[in-house]
Amino acid sequence: MIRFALVCANGHEFESWFASNESYDFQIANKLVSCPYCNGTGIAKAVMAPAVARAVGASAKPAAAPKQNVALLGEADGGLRDMARELHQKIVAATVDVGTEFAREARRIHDGEAPERPIRGQTSPEEARALLDEGVEIMPMPASPEDLG
Ligand SMILES: [Zn+2]
Repeated sequence: MIRFALVCANGHEFESWFASNESYDFQIANKLVSCPYCNGTGIAKAVMAPAVARAVGASAKPAAAPKQNVALLGEADGGLRDMARELHQKIVAATVDVGTEFAREARRIHDGEAPERPIRGQTSPEEARALLDEGVEIMPMPASPEDLG
């Protein structure tokens, strides 16, 4: 079983368990998963990205770091781990790292103000949701086991 953090088109966040990635893909493609809050079926995986550092006032409480999605795989699933690592490496190889400028750059590309090219970087969950709402087709990076250290 794999647990995914999901987000609906209206920005509601919830979690759901799936037998496998394939099961997730099938259920999403066939609109079998609906938002528990609004029943919407425009479901996507919540973006897992490190939070952008935010300036906090002296009196403001520091923002809690968002939780990272992790999976514990059994012996038989070792191939999945390799696939995730391979996919991660492929995305890294195919994209330009724009770091914390990601949201700004993604918008510029979306608006035709910057040359279209694959980029990766960090953004906050709120910003990622805003981008998706604006029709910018971003996707979560698969974590490589090395990233979790
Ligand atoms: Zn919803």
